[in-house]
Amino acid sequence: MPFVIAVPKELAPGEKRVATVPEVVQKLIKSGHSVRIEHGAGTGAYYPDALYTEAGATIAHSRAELFSGAQIVLKVQPPTVAEVEQMAEGTIVVGFMNAARNPEVVIRMRDRKITAFALELVPRITRAQSMDALSSQATAGGYVATLLGAAHCPKFLPMLTTAAGTIRPATVLILGAGVAGLMAIATAKRLGAVVEAYDVRRAAGEQVRSLGARFIELEINAEGQGGYARELTPEEKVKEQEMVSAAVARADIVITTASIPGRKAPLLIIRETVATMRPGAVIVDMAAESGGNCELTVPGRTIREGGVTILGSLNLPAEVPFHASQMFAKNLHSFLSLLVDKDGGMVTEFTDEILAASLLVHAGEIRHGPTRDLLGGGTP
Ligand code: NAD
Repeated sequence: MPFVIAVPKELAPGEKRVATVPEVVQKLIKSGHSVRIEHGAGTGAYYPDALYTEAGATIAHSRAELFSGAQIVLKVQPPTVAEVEQMAEGTIVVGFMNAARNPEVVIRMRDRKITAFALELVPRITRAQSMDALSSQATAGGYVATLLGAAHCPKFLPMLTTAAGTIRPATVLILGAGVAGLMAIATAKRLGAVVEAYDVRRAAGEQVRSLGARFIELEINAEGQGGYARELTPEEKVKEQEMVSAAVARADIVITTASIPGRKAPLLIIRETVATMRPGAVIVDMAAESGGNCELTVPGRTIREGGVTILGSLNLPAEVPFHASQMFAKNLHSFLSLLVDKDGGMVTEFTDEILAASLLVHAGEIRHGPTRDLLGGGTP
């Protein structure tokens, strides 16, 4: 049974990514599915309608045309309430859902009996690596963060020996060496900077060193469950801020990526530490959306504090929309394979470990426990 798959244009401000790309459309068509793309959906990521048509998709010029008879809707950002209203009962929607920030959408999906899979809930097990959109997008974000830092820095990053004198390399400090942090480190190394990094998980040290950066060893090891960090105790937090501040003061660019799943981002750089930074230094706070790793970060804005520029940029992956969309589309393609049963039909029981973990809403029920608890009786 071939599925009808619909891909709307993303409407969130600044969102340039698209949930599928022509290369993936070709594969879906080859597997017997039909794909509808909303007119202009790929424009922001430089995939014009014509490329989708060549790959075998049809272009829909209205939302009614797009959603009519579609069994699966592919999204990057969570659907809006209006989009949910346009989908038929029983439609499956897959994408990032950020349920905690979009309670009214979750409730609407529940009431309209939409089935929603949240990509951020895909477990980080080996079998799910090809579907790990958190990682693919964090890779894109880490790359952009370093480039933004370099673009705002008044210095060269590499060492230069020229007729006009020798220039010392800039120092880049990365706080949080998860997926985004490691990509930020690799990018800063390629630009020739001296790179230092720190993470509360001691295990990150080996990965940092393998990229040629120096790992700042602190006496804290906060490895939590599933390879994530745990929250630090109040004493550990104070110690961390003190120890991090010396490294921050000698850096030209600081990129912060520290986060703890489901929590406000840890505060690593306090106002007093910013005051000790070099004139012209730059902080790129990748945790801006979840509260910021720097006390002075303003989400969505670039500010100046003394001689220090602090970027609270949001949605960094959208700044490399071509490749971020390509990676995201491949993640989704891989995820979709779980929805096809051995006879080529749609699976009816979502018992597969990955499907079960990422199922947010189904058949009029919120299936993800923490979201159900958060929304209580269901009134946002
Ligand atoms: P994340 O986005 O949740 O956090 C980013 C980084 O911030 C993490 O490395 C975390 O340790 C760090 N951090 C948290 N609190 C901090 C603090 N107070 N000070 C300094 N650093 C702090 O993490 P992520 O990038 O999504 O990756 C988390 C883990 O998951 C890593 O161990 C990674 O290797 C692992 N992972 C596994 C798979 C897989 O097996 N398929 C895929 C992706 C990631």
